[in-house]
Amino acid sequence: MSKDLKIETRCVQAGYTPGNGEPRQVPIIQSTTFKYDSSSEMGRLFDLEVPGYFYTRLQNPTNDLVAAKICALEGGTAAMLTSSGQAANFFAVFNIAGAGDHVVSSSTIYGGTFNLFAVTMAKMGVEFTFVNPDCTPEELDAAFRPNTKAVFGETVANPALVVLDIEMFADAAHRHGVPLIMDNTFPTPINCRPFEWGADIVTHSTTKYMDGHGAAVGGAIVDSGHFDWRQYADKFPGLCTPDESYHGITYVEKFGVEGAFITKCTAQLMRDLGSIPSPQNSFILNLGLESLHVRVKRHTENAQAMAEYLNAHPKIEYVNHSGLPGDRYYARARKYLPSGSCGVVSFGIKGGRQKAEEFMGHLRICAIETHVADARTCILHPASATHRQMTDSQLEACGVLPNLVRLSCGIENVADLIADVDQALAKI
Ligand SMILES: *Cc1c(COP(=O)(O)O)cnc(C)c1O
Repeated sequence: MSKDLKIETRCVQAGYTPGNGEPRQVPIIQSTTFKYDSSSEMGRLFDLEVPGYFYTRLQNPTNDLVAAKICALEGGTAAMLTSSGQAANFFAVFNIAGAGDHVVSSSTIYGGTFNLFAVTMAKMGVEFTFVNPDCTPEELDAAFRPNTKAVFGETVANPALVVLDIEMFADAAHRHGVPLIMDNTFPTPINCRPFEWGADIVTHSTTKYMDGHGAAVGGAIVDSGHFDWRQYADKFPGLCTPDESYHGITYVEKFGVEGAFITKCTAQLMRDLGSIPSPQNSFILNLGLESLHVRVKRHTENAQAMAEYLNAHPKIEYVNHSGLPGDRYYARARKYLPSGSCGVVSFGIKGGRQKAEEFMGHLRICAIETHVADARTCILHPASATHRQMTDSQLEACGVLPNLVRLSCGIENVADLIADVDQALAKI
């Protein structure tokens, strides 16, 4: 498919081009296995000598067609799907950092990712240093160690809505000879393509806007093909020295800098850990991707209108939304997110925790859910849900104040959403 096509056209058409008489829609190959005429043919597949399918835990045609679309949207050279966003972030980091290695990460990342890094991967022997996303280049430099293998951040952090200075993080990573991995879940490639700002690997929880209908949990990893592993071969032996479990092939030699990362991730991590999405889920994800450009624009516009309404409301103490000129991330968002950030707004209600809880109880259209980035508007009061075990002072320390409400604007008519919030605020 032509590289010149606009992103909207890629959303609809990239990844799969049917031949004469073939199905118009991406076929669901709901088969665990694939049949061959000879053992030697299958042997060549096992040795990665020829491309092809033999067992869906490693690769499946439906999954690959949908991964190819996400690859085209981000402007990458290779991509793979995973069964969840958690698996995508785990695989992306673990593919190049193992026991005894170190990773620098922004501290304002999704809670599930923070736990994965700080607890589970720490148990596996990978050490993380969490840096303030608003640190200076000198502070960022100071976080690196000789055994650092990657830098990790979120383009727009969930739920803090911090906009990361991608160029600054990419420059620091490259000064130290390691790639920048960016979780681009919230903006999606419609609002930001981190590769254009120097990121090397992009991950997604496709569960959010990419599916967009609250129907299928999933994840994706995309490689830009920009990072030259061979230049730092001593840091990345897994990519640059022979893999004995594949008859001694060396990933960068056989698949080039464009394909080595994803091939190794598939051949080793997917083979051994098996976090593959079902082909049925990938089909559902692709339906979501076909309208991603239309939906993300609407989510973004609705959130902007909602943020402006809230900002002018006397019962609202503060609003976090990088599209508001007074927001701390406004300038950075103008640079990295000129079309807007995403559909999420967070705000604080005057009167503290109790008023926030009361407000939630009066909503009619905005549904209380532990979710974001759905076609339907949803809302969460973290202090009484995801963060309920924390004291007020602990909440303040992690930037989630007791009166904070996170609102994920859907694609309904924004007048109805504002009217719902307005009537609920009037009752408190
Ligand atoms: C939800 C989310 C994840 C985790 O994805 P799952 O699909 O729920 O496993 C990772 N990163 C971000 C930014 C998210 O919002």
